[in-house]
Amino acid sequence: MAILDCAIIGGGPAGLTAGLYTTRGGLENVVMFEKGMPGGQITNSSEIENYPGVTGEITGMDLMTPWPAQCSKFGLVHEMVNVTRVSKNGDLFTIHKEDGTTTDAHSVIIGTGSSPRRAGFTGEDAYFGRGVSTCATCDGFFYKGKDVAVIGGGDTALEEALYLAKICNKVYLVHRRDTFRSAPNTVKRVKNTENIELVLNSVPDEVYGDNMGVTGLRVKKSDGTTREIEVPGVFIFVGNDVNNQTLIQEDGSFLCDMNEQGQVIVDISMRTSVAGLFAAGDMRIAAPKQVISAAGDGAVAALQAISYVDELLN
Ligand code: FAD
Ligand code: NAP
Repeated sequence: MAILDCAIIGGGPAGLTAGLYTTRGGLENVVMFEKGMPGGQITNSSEIENYPGVTGEITGMDLMTPWPAQCSKFGLVHEMVNVTRVSKNGDLFTIHKEDGTTTDAHSVIIGTGSSPRRAGFTGEDAYFGRGVSTCATCDGFFYKGKDVAVIGGGDTALEEALYLAKICNKVYLVHRRDTFRSAPNTVKRVKNTENIELVLNSVPDEVYGDNMGVTGLRVKKSDGTTREIEVPGVFIFVGNDVNNQTLIQEDGSFLCDMNEQGQVIVDISMRTSVAGLFAAGDMRIAAPKQVISAAGDGAVAALQAISYVDELLN
């Protein structure tokens, strides 16, 4: 295969938008390496209400379905493969793939996203997207005026519990210890919020429900007793893992600078510490973790990649 002008790793909102802008912007030979169907994690969402201009009842899958066709119209190629590593030698990047083949590229835009950690209790996977969620901004509104449970004791769990408390009737904050990891001021705000009940020294044991979705959560307390909490929604915030594996080199180091949380450090133009390597979407530092911002990052990264390749080759 000829050397690509740009290799895009990941076909979520960030990767697809990068694909649209690079191909429409004149780069030749752009391939998007996506291990599954393009669309990204939003295709797991049963409803999206906060993408500007998109009104009415629409699923994440509905939202994303037209994106790949729009990109291929301008020449973006999708190669369905798991990328194992991206390396750089001189000015040339190499994309290493699970099928054992490699592809070289002048520039790379990486948008492999992040995966919310699962807590690992019974029913969590079965009810994911049907009452179990990892995104309060996205799904909180569906529980307006209802009761929900939040799992976790870090900044995310407490901040999201505060967010949900404004929308929901009551929030049960389930945490496995009696002290929190979260910033003291956030803990204070949670404790001062009337409709948040702390369920401490408790781990989720099982989320259960019916054909319509979740109806309750059973938690196990450290003294061995259990408690049933009747809620239609359970939000899990037990940490997030950035999908950064493709940036790990043979010697175990990362290809570019990362922060302590494994997020790619980028500047305002989505440039990483390595020339020609751009990062976009959920995997970058300070990502708002929304479709709109991931798509915006993809566009910014693509415009930078076009300038970079232009300067490199001319
Ligand atoms: P992702 O969407 O994670 O896409 C990354 C892609 O990279 C994936 O398709 C993955 O298969 C691929 N990939 C990963 N590793 C490799 C590899 N090694 N090789 C090849 N391919 C790889 N946001 C909103 O704005 N509104 C909402 O209502 C909303 N609801 C949500 C509901 C749920 C249930 C979830 C989980 C998220 C929701 N979000 C919502 C958040 C939104 O989905 C993300 O912020 C957005 O998808 C991030 O886009 P991305 O392109 O950075 O990454
Ligand atoms: P986190 O700090 O790792 O907290 C995860 C929480 O989930 C912990 O309370 C942990 O309990 C709990 N947990 C983990 N696995 C569990 C399981 N299987 N079952 C039940 N509970 C489980 O993750 P985070 O809150 O997403 O934050 C990640 C990083 O981002 C942190 O550095 C955080 O400070 C930062 N952050 C900052 C802000 C801010 O500055 N405003 C906002 C959000 C996030 P234990 O406490 O017992 O380990």
